[in-house]
Amino acid sequence: MAKDTLFLLPGDGIGADITVAVRQVIAWFQAAGRTDFRVVEGLIGGAAIDAEGTPLSDATLAEAMAADAVLMGCVGGPKWDGLPFAQRPERGLLRLRREMKVFANLRPAHVFDALAESSTLKTEVVKGLDIMIVRELTGGVYFGEPRGIETLTDGSRRGVNTQVYTTPEIERVARVAFELARTRAGKVCSVEKANVMESGVLWREEVTRLQAAEFPDVTLSHMYADNCAMQLVRAPRQFDVIVTDNLFGDLLSDLAAMLTGSLGMLPSASLGAADATGRRPALYEPVHGSAPDITGKGIANPLAMILSFAMMMRHSFAMEANAALLEDAVRRVLDLGVRTADIASPGHISVTTQAMAAAVVGELGKSSV
Ligand code: NAD
Repeated sequence: MAKDTLFLLPGDGIGADITVAVRQVIAWFQAAGRTDFRVVEGLIGGAAIDAEGTPLSDATLAEAMAADAVLMGCVGGPKWDGLPFAQRPERGLLRLRREMKVFANLRPAHVFDALAESSTLKTEVVKGLDIMIVRELTGGVYFGEPRGIETLTDGSRRGVNTQVYTTPEIERVARVAFELARTRAGKVCSVEKANVMESGVLWREEVTRLQAAEFPDVTLSHMYADNCAMQLVRAPRQFDVIVTDNLFGDLLSDLAAMLTGSLGMLPSASLGAADATGRRPALYEPVHGSAPDITGKGIANPLAMILSFAMMMRHSFAMEANAALLEDAVRRVLDLGVRTADIASPGHISVTTQAMAAAVVGELGKSSV
C-alpha cells in the first residue's frame, strides 16, 4: 500500500525553527513504528517569493493537493511588507486554503493545568477548559456578493457586504461539528444571530433539521453570538463543540483562544469535503504568525506546531492513540516546568525551541515503555 504523504510547508520567520522541532517529533513516531509517513517539504510565503518569485507556485500547490495532509508553519515578515498586496507572502496561504476548499476551521481552546495561571481569567474559570470551535471558513459575509464601496448621487459613499449561506454550506460544516462532538462530550452549541438576521434563521433551521435526521445522539443547543461571547468569558466550560459562521467564528475563536493564555500553544485544522474513501483535504497550522521580533533567536514555542501535528494524526489519519500520546507528552513536559520564554513565569528557566521539542520527545520515549 502507498504510504500516506505528509507535506510540510515551513514558511517564514520562526516557521523554519518550529518545523525542525516538529520533525524531531515526527521522527520519533516513525522510528517507533507508530507511523509510516512519506514526509515531503516545500516552499510557501516569503521563502517561495525569494526562490520562485511567487508565494505559492503551481507545482507546490499540486503537491499540497496530492498530499494526504499539509502541515504549515507561518508566513510573512518585514522583508516582504513593501510588496503590493497581491504579491505578499500571505497570498500564498490564502490561495492554498481556497484551492484546497477547506470550509471547516477547527480551533481547539484547551487549557493545560500547568498553564491555567497564564490566562487573563481566574484559574477556577479556565482550569480544565477543553472547547472546540468549528468556524465556517469559505462563505458568509467575507465572500458574499454584492460587495464594494460606491459613491451615491449626493456624493456620500456606501459600503456593502452581504451575508449569504445556503443549505449545503450550513449542512457540511454542521456535520463536521456533530461528528466531532461524537468523539468528545457529545454536545454542539450552534451560534448565530437568528433574532436579527435571516441567514441566522436559516442557519438555525438547517442545523436543527440535520441533528434530528442524522445526529439524534448529539445534544444540540442554540445561542446568539453576542451571548456566546459573554458566556465564553463568564463560564467557558459549559461548551463542548461550538459551530458558527465565518464572521462570528473569526471573533469567537480568537476570544476563546485567549482564554488559554498563549499564542504559541494554539494549533488549528482546516478541513474540506470528504471523498469517496472518507479522506478530506486538510491543512494544519499553528494559529500564530511568523513572529519577526523573535525570528533567528531560537526561542519560539514549537508546541502549537507540535499540537497541530497531533490534530493531523487524529483528524486525517484516525490515529487517536498517537494523538493522545503526543498531547499527553506535551502535558507532562509542562507539568515538569519546561517552558519557552513566551509561557515562562517567574521561577521557570526558559528553554530553546529545539530543547522544548527534545523534552516532548523525551516524554514520548517514557510513555512507550
Ligand atoms: P505573530 O503571531 O507573528 O506575533 C505576535 C506576538 O506573539 C509576537 O510578539 C511574537 O513574538 C509572539 N509569538 C507568536 N508565535 C509565537 C511562538 N510560537 N512562540 C513565542 N512567541 C510567539 O503576529 P504578528 O506580529 O501580527 O505578525 C507577524 C507576521 O506574521 C506578519 O507578516 C503577519 O502577516 C504574519 N502572520 C501570519 C499568519 C500565518 O501564517 N497564519 C498568521 C498571523 C500573522
